[in-house]
Amino acid sequence: MNVHQHYIAGRWVDSAKTLDVINPSDGTKIAEIACGGASEIDAAVAAAQAARKGPWGKMDAVSRGRLLFKLADLIRRDAENLAKLESDDVGKPMTVALSDVAVCARYFEYYGAAADKVHGETIPFQSGFTVMTFYEPHGVTAHIVPWNYPLQMTGRSVAPSLVMGNAIVLKPAEDTSLSALALAKLAEEAGFPPGVFNVVTGLGEEAGAALSVHPGIGHISFTGSREVGRLIQIAAARNTIPVTLELGGKSPQIVFSDAPLEEAGATIVRGIVHNSGQTCSAGSRVLIQDDIYEKFTNQLAKRFKALRVGSASQDLDLGPVVNAAQRTRIEGYLDSARRDGLQILAEGSFGTNLPSGGYYVKPTLIGEVPAEHALAQEEIFGPVLVALRFRDEEDALRIANGTPYGLVAGVWTSDLGRSMRLSRNIEAGQVFVNNYGAGGGVELPFGGVRGSGFGREKGFEALYGFGVLKTVTIHHGL
Ligand code: NAD
Repeated sequence: MNVHQHYIAGRWVDSAKTLDVINPSDGTKIAEIACGGASEIDAAVAAAQAARKGPWGKMDAVSRGRLLFKLADLIRRDAENLAKLESDDVGKPMTVALSDVAVCARYFEYYGAAADKVHGETIPFQSGFTVMTFYEPHGVTAHIVPWNYPLQMTGRSVAPSLVMGNAIVLKPAEDTSLSALALAKLAEEAGFPPGVFNVVTGLGEEAGAALSVHPGIGHISFTGSREVGRLIQIAAARNTIPVTLELGGKSPQIVFSDAPLEEAGATIVRGIVHNSGQTCSAGSRVLIQDDIYEKFTNQLAKRFKALRVGSASQDLDLGPVVNAAQRTRIEGYLDSARRDGLQILAEGSFGTNLPSGGYYVKPTLIGEVPAEHALAQEEIFGPVLVALRFRDEEDALRIANGTPYGLVAGVWTSDLGRSMRLSRNIEAGQVFVNNYGAGGGVELPFGGVRGSGFGREKGFEALYGFGVLKTVTIHHGL
């Protein structure tokens, strides 16, 4: 049995305690990871601080960018192995895992290329003065990531920070730490100096909490649930440091009767069942205009009935969900739908030879869900799509904005004016018109409003969050 260690200061380090790593496809134990706490976090932060004072702190931006390119190349070289690791650890069908690896490589490539393009400016001021600004690193940045897209979230969070010159301490989710450790190994091979890239594995309330309150960090990038996001914000306040919170969502897909309905149906179903619905930005509410409600839900139902659930290696439409607790949670929502007399319009089915110990859930479409019902308000984080009716644009907007979240929205219409009005009035960090998700697009700034968090990751915008602007004012006279 493999026992995986932390990666601190360029060395592989044990902990007294370990955690089991379970394969969600069949419930078997596949490895153990070290279960760290405050002392490992202390060591990792100290290593990162030392790295900032060493060659990493003196390295020019282009050289940092080249290291990120090298890492992107190595990720692509090892794509099959990384995808298999992720697939065993998270339960992702191989096709999904391979696309995650590709996106992870793109983050390092995209931000590697941005290394020498973040610059300050000179500002006209009083005569006899020159004023200039610089982007400087925070120093050590903390990265706490979730289990749904371990490689993608790690790349998204870590790559822009590294390229800005920070040294990082990464705490992956306890259920899915293997790919972060594999990435650390590749970072070493790429030539990142020791201490620049540290990974401490362990429980959120131990290693994660210790990292979030550590006085040696200058910024926290957190991706995860709203509940833990609040704790992270409080922890950051103790050290008065900035924090980026990428939290959950209950994103609406709004379908008007003049929409391209076939394309809308295919995209909406793909969007909610991809990764077994465990996607923060999944369009989990479909808002359908009254006059096409029956026709469109029939189309969606047909698509749901065709979906097949299998083990990760069977590579069907959906794999298992990540663990037993997640399955129980989703089943709880489905039970409440039945109890409250909501319409179960369609279910997918389990494929043949499904391993008995896995955590499988049937993708489910639920109709006529009242906007105030928990199923239309809360993040289920599973392959469950709820359908709601609306009358007109105003009604659609009211329902779309009527949850605590504001991450992403989809608008399906052929009316340009309406698509613009909704895009401007929907409370969300990102709006898609007549498409959704746009292939992950690492170039597109992403993040939430209200309960979905704040700060932006992805795109060029992320770089500014991982830097601090310094203004230098020189009085030299005339
Ligand atoms: P989670 O909040 O339970 O855990 C996320 C991370 O926080 C894990 O690494 C965990 O170990 C750590 N953690 C837990 N308790 C902690 C504590 N007290 N102090 C410090 N760290 C702690 O979330 P999850 O269940 O892993 O992920 C699912 C959630 O993440 C969903 O709500 C989903 O929408 C959200 N998510 C958001 C985005 C986004 O970009 N907005 C992306 C992916 C997932």
